[in-house]
Amino acid sequence: MNRADCLALDRDDPLAAARERFHLPEGLIYLDGNSLGALPRTTPARLAEVLEQQWGEGLVRSWNTAGWVDAPARVAARLAPLLGAGPDQLMIADSTSINLFKLLWAATRLRPERRVVLMEAGDFPTDAYLAQALAALDPHVHVLRAAPEQLAALLDERVAVLLLSHVHYRTGARHDLAAWTARAHRVGALTLWDLAHSAGVLRCDLDNSGVDFAVGCGYKFLNGGPGAPSFLYVAARHQAAAFNPLQGWFGHARPFTFEADYQAAPGMARWQVGTPSILALAALEAALNVFRDLDPAQLEHKAQALGDIALAALEAQLPDAGFTVLTPREPTARGAQLSLAHPQAWPLCRALAAAGVLADYRPPGVLRMGFSPLLLRHVDVWDAVTVLAELWREGRWRAPQFQQPETVP
Ligand SMILES: *Cc1c(COP(=O)(O)O)cnc(C)c1O
Repeated sequence: MNRADCLALDRDDPLAAARERFHLPEGLIYLDGNSLGALPRTTPARLAEVLEQQWGEGLVRSWNTAGWVDAPARVAARLAPLLGAGPDQLMIADSTSINLFKLLWAATRLRPERRVVLMEAGDFPTDAYLAQALAALDPHVHVLRAAPEQLAALLDERVAVLLLSHVHYRTGARHDLAAWTARAHRVGALTLWDLAHSAGVLRCDLDNSGVDFAVGCGYKFLNGGPGAPSFLYVAARHQAAAFNPLQGWFGHARPFTFEADYQAAPGMARWQVGTPSILALAALEAALNVFRDLDPAQLEHKAQALGDIALAALEAQLPDAGFTVLTPREPTARGAQLSLAHPQAWPLCRALAAAGVLADYRPPGVLRMGFSPLLLRHVDVWDAVTVLAELWREGRWRAPQFQQPETVP
């Protein structure tokens, strides 16, 4: 593998044209689409229309005339094919953290005779914090955190819910979603999947995999904009029995009759809580239109190829720089990212940014590169590693300005 091979891959890339659908700063290589997706070119005009026409002119009438009230379900339906979800099993609402809490509570209620929420130690903090919050509210619930290699042994008849991230945010390791779901079902446990790092980039196949519940972010690979609303998935077979603990009026069967007591809406509508952010939904809807003709299998295939290039480029250009690849090398065992442990990961990340390559840093000591298959050419990944190799060789990362901490790493 060399740079010319990457250029050849770009010439034959069926996704090459998708790059034009995004605004990207000139000369920048963006390896952080896993943290904040890039801006689709159609989003500004769409937001301007919602602001000026629907809000400015339509005012409150737009809840009906511009379809605001149906926006969460409409945007959810647009997302469904990307996740392998049949209709009416998704809703857009709130943040991933909040949806995780809602679904974890609901899932544990479906297995009242069991106590354990089993999750991976070192998973994304919000998942653990919210599981702890549930345990604090409900002493019947016990949170068990285990190293990945211990999960299988601990998954037994005591487990109510297996809560896993499809792709680990720090290491990029990927769980086999279908296999773990089947394993959980064999012992009668339910699954709740966090798809933060897979929605919009990997095949999730939620229905075919038999997944019970799932949540994920709108602002990462889905490009919905900073703080975009989150999605949640409830398999059709659980929808009648699973309830939202946050009984807000938007999840009521008849919100606009203003009844004294709560009655859960049928289907996915009950997973809403309060008034949705219409501006944020409009940005997410515009982004999902960008994905309209794209097949998740094709996205995953290119993301894997980009990861292969990064690994090959590291081997070719940085063999002795002391990087430890935390991400599994086997393509099906990793997400669309590569995580490199290095004692100087932070100043290297800062120096990379100064040289026009945006990656990110996760403590302790991990340089993380995300591979959005829509934004990136194969050669971009090769070139990003070249930039890293140059600044490593030249010691440019030692400059004092690259040692300073930042609020958001
Ligand atoms: C990014 C991320 C989140 C973020 O949750 P928010 O509520 O959107 O802040 C949750 N879980 C995982 C695994 C993530 O990577």
